[in-house]
Amino acid sequence: MPFTDLRQFLAVLEERGDLVRIREEVDPKFEIAAYIRKTSDAGGPAILFERVRGSTIPVVGGIFAHRRRAVLALDATPEVAVDRFNSAIASLLPTRRVSSGTCQEVVHRGQEADLTRLPIPTYSAKDCNPYITAGMVVSQDPETGSKNASIYRLEMKDGRRLGILCSAGHHLAMQFARAEARGKPLEVAIVLGPSPATLMATQWEAPYGVDELALAGALHGQPVEVVKCQTVDLEVPASAEIVIEGRILPAVREMEGPFGEYTGYYTDTSPKPVIEVTAITHRRDAIFQALLTGVPTTENHVIKMVPLEASYYSMLKARFPGVRAVHFPGPGGVGLMAVVSMRQTIKYEARSVIMAVLSATRNKLVVVVDDDIDPYNLEQVMWAVCTRAQPDQDMTVVPRLAGGYLDPSSRERDANCCLGIDATRPFGQPFAEVATVPGLDRVPDPSLWGRDSK
Ligand code: MN
Repeated sequence: MPFTDLRQFLAVLEERGDLVRIREEVDPKFEIAAYIRKTSDAGGPAILFERVRGSTIPVVGGIFAHRRRAVLALDATPEVAVDRFNSAIASLLPTRRVSSGTCQEVVHRGQEADLTRLPIPTYSAKDCNPYITAGMVVSQDPETGSKNASIYRLEMKDGRRLGILCSAGHHLAMQFARAEARGKPLEVAIVLGPSPATLMATQWEAPYGVDELALAGALHGQPVEVVKCQTVDLEVPASAEIVIEGRILPAVREMEGPFGEYTGYYTDTSPKPVIEVTAITHRRDAIFQALLTGVPTTENHVIKMVPLEASYYSMLKARFPGVRAVHFPGPGGVGLMAVVSMRQTIKYEARSVIMAVLSATRNKLVVVVDDDIDPYNLEQVMWAVCTRAQPDQDMTVVPRLAGGYLDPSSRERDANCCLGIDATRPFGQPFAEVATVPGLDRVPDPSLWGRDSK
């Protein structure tokens, strides 16, 4: 069964040699980010920073720096991770309230709730301030009470205040708009270090009103146990590491940014809502979770892959039974590019798939390939593009679609030009045969060559 808290997961990573401890003191300003960058680029382990300057709380980072750990967090294999995620979506388990939790072993309220005691890292050279990047923001609709949990970037402005980016259309932004229209603040609880499956559950494209924690429960195979917060009327996973309680203030906007984003570029500075902190609770020996974003591929990209692939796979499969797999590659920031592999059942079906994916608003480039192409292997994908598609007949350009929120090439705010490439062989027509070498199964793996085979 998947890990129901962060501790269990870290213990297993360490056992497998996929978590290293850094015992020398590190600076939360850039140094933690530099370690995570290196492990991301090298496909290396997760990192536990035992001593962080200016705080008594250790930091874990790079948990999602490689897809193998995202797959392990679901207790899956690469082949079944997407299916497991989709089966969980089909069997949501609501949270279960419990009376106490380790996330509240230590409680700081009011003036005692001081963000500067937390080891909040600064990631990229021009980031305006330290950022909380793995904070799961829990909130509820002020009218219906429906719940939401998702990750938003949070700027530490000072010891008591955070700036938050939640673009229009995000569920939290919809809830906040409703609260603000009544002149009321919106209560939030920012959860650091829930189980890794819970963090992945927040990246599911859930319909508005569906609690992402119910998916976390389904992924765990048991309901997520939640406790009531101390100063806000919300519930948070009982075994989380740290919880920051607060409220988004109505009619308040302050400049936020620049911040190095998932596209690999800094985003503009603009006025954003502000959270006033009302309490910080945590485990006695809490661990702070860092998460790097920036030039792909980082953990901020990897954490979204399986959830997005699952969302799009089930959406497409329902309409196009020949769809075999969907991949969101790192270079597209996991959102700007999708690759779909399929076996067409009717003429031009790949083009209908292109339109379906583009109309889901977050994609800029969609490539559809035949089912003999591995969509996870961009070398194979580009081979198909170069040898199975002719630009004048197999490309579709849509001049403007909603999207492109952080894409620096967007010439018009919140709009993108989109491209679909049908790199499938024309349906029902003869096509050049793929050249193959026979007998591959009789040759051992290269790592065994030159050794005594007896
Ligand atoms: Mn939601």
